[in-house]
Amino acid sequence: MTFIFPPHPVTSLPIFARNERFPVRRIFCVGRNYADHAREMGAAEQADGREPPFFFMKPADALVSGEGEIVVAYPPLTQNLHHEVEMIVALGSGGANVTVDAAKDLIFGYAVGLDLTRRDIQGKAKEKGHPWDMGKGFDQSAVAGILQPVALVGHPDRGRIWLTVNGESRQDGDLTAMMWKVADIIANLSTTVRLEAGDLIYTGTPAGVGPIVRGDLLEAGVDGVGSLRARLV
Ligand code: MN
Repeated sequence: MTFIFPPHPVTSLPIFARNERFPVRRIFCVGRNYADHAREMGAAEQADGREPPFFFMKPADALVSGEGEIVVAYPPLTQNLHHEVEMIVALGSGGANVTVDAAKDLIFGYAVGLDLTRRDIQGKAKEKGHPWDMGKGFDQSAVAGILQPVALVGHPDRGRIWLTVNGESRQDGDLTAMMWKVADIIANLSTTVRLEAGDLIYTGTPAGVGPIVRGDLLEAGVDGVGSLRARLV
């Protein structure tokens, strides 16, 4: 087969202690998965506890990753770019209508990620009932650190998830506060689409999201997964 121009290279993530890389297919993100963050975003309290998980997406080529300091370009059309530290789940196999009990079998590994958000654009879209895509799915909006295989780290489900900006603490939560756990998220999402090897899932952020500007150094980590550093330029 020939193409009229060279196809875009496959987006991929580095894997700890491996020469091979993880080829990325799609990027799914869970909204409002920590109650303290849902509250700070103004979501109504659910009388019967949690609302069902909901999802949005970023293009695979919005991913920016690396092993050292990751350089991220400040995006256009925003005066209110926000950080959201998240644990990323990377799927090594797929399936539809996966049960909660079988969900973890799909996971290849975990990474630390940033779901960068043009909060002003997202806010206007919410007001108008428009899609969030341009608030969430812009170039370099999905930051990811090194992928840690399950074979090395198991399935982290407790411990700190944190972020600092220029050394100052901004987000400091715990994985146990996720309203929908990783297995629940995979099972639920697999009823909506058929999941495939290479899919990433950003699993939501704890409270403390806020603005970042050019020059800021972001450091973020998840206990049992590792950490990343990103510089906004
Ligand atoms: Mn998020």
